[in-house]
Amino acid sequence: MLLDKFQAMTEFQQELAERKIKPFGAVTEQLLSPTEGIVGGHQVILAGTNNYLGLAYHPHCIAAAQAAAERWGTGTTGSRLANGSFIEHELLERELADFHGVDHAICFTTGYSATMGMCSTLAGPGDTILLDADSHASIYAGVRLSSADIIRFKHSNPDDLAKRLRRLGKRAGNALIVVEGIYSMLGDTAPLREIAEVKRQYGGYLLVDEAHSLGVLGDTGRGAAEAAGIEDSVDFTAGTFSKSLGGTGGYCVSRHAQLESIRYCIGAYIFTASATPSTVASTREALKILRTEPRRRSLLWEHARHLYHSLEAMGLTLGPAVSPVVAVQLEDRDQAIQCWNALMESGVYVNLVIPPASPSTNFLLRCSVSAAHSRAQIDSIISAYSNLLRSGLISARQVA
Ligand code: PMP
Repeated sequence: MLLDKFQAMTEFQQELAERKIKPFGAVTEQLLSPTEGIVGGHQVILAGTNNYLGLAYHPHCIAAAQAAAERWGTGTTGSRLANGSFIEHELLERELADFHGVDHAICFTTGYSATMGMCSTLAGPGDTILLDADSHASIYAGVRLSSADIIRFKHSNPDDLAKRLRRLGKRAGNALIVVEGIYSMLGDTAPLREIAEVKRQYGGYLLVDEAHSLGVLGDTGRGAAEAAGIEDSVDFTAGTFSKSLGGTGGYCVSRHAQLESIRYCIGAYIFTASATPSTVASTREALKILRTEPRRRSLLWEHARHLYHSLEAMGLTLGPAVSPVVAVQLEDRDQAIQCWNALMESGVYVNLVIPPASPSTNFLLRCSVSAAHSRAQIDSIISAYSNLLRSGLISARQVA
């Protein structure tokens, strides 16, 4: 029957409800500060957001959003092609292109529609897309929609990418390669230097989704491609406003002039209402702050290093390198749920990630740090994790 396939999910939700645990869709009932709130009745440090630079509650961004709502209203009531293009959208596009040092930019209503829209439109029937196996759901959605031939290569494995491009022969030169900057689950960074070298050897076009690396990596915060020194090899950079920029929306920038024509072919751009004036205004302000306050990025990394090295010293199994995403890997579902709940009771909200959202079959207690956290809050997060060890809920080096 049509609805039978949801039975397992219904039972899982029932089980969580009976245990009075709500790890998915936890509701923030009150915000006490940019990094603290009441979630599910617990006063907690918010360590499961993507507010990397702490701009989601920045007074300048809030003021810009308020002023835009007064000037332009609360909604655009239409798509960019119909009646939803305001001068502010165009200004933001110009600022994003300028930031990335290219000439062309498109703003989308969400980051999801940016990557999904670009992947589904750039390649079509007869084309080939090579995507990293651990790609975000928006990339998978886009490539499926494209009707192109889809080839997955091993996660962050340039040799496997090269092997698959080699097999394509002449078609390699026309292929679209899709990778992310920082992968959001374990916080690992794509080996972009090596991937750019493979692209140089075999040809193709490279799209990098910098959703989690914008504002986080690179001397000026342009992302993983800047950090790797390979921006010239990137054909399309996608990003989101919902993480470092503290808003909602997404974008794609490119040096290819065809982006202006592609704009008119993307369903996820044409057939959806554009971002609200407030969102666009706060994002413009956030981008300005991202560009002028590099101290936020260094503070973020100070926190990331402190948290990662402290949890590593406890013997917990983490992602492969220091990153603002610090994920503890566990093998057992029930244990992961209990640990998540114990962290809540210790006053720390993190993300519980279960397969298939997590790479491999592991369960993750995924923390993300923010420049807005204080050092004392990072210390509190660390002691909440050490409580898990002390109480025996978790043991060191549990996952090989
Ligand atoms: N791409 C990647 C790599 C992401 O991690 C995300 C969100 N987690 C998105 C795109 C979608 O962005 P948004 O949530 O802003 O729609």
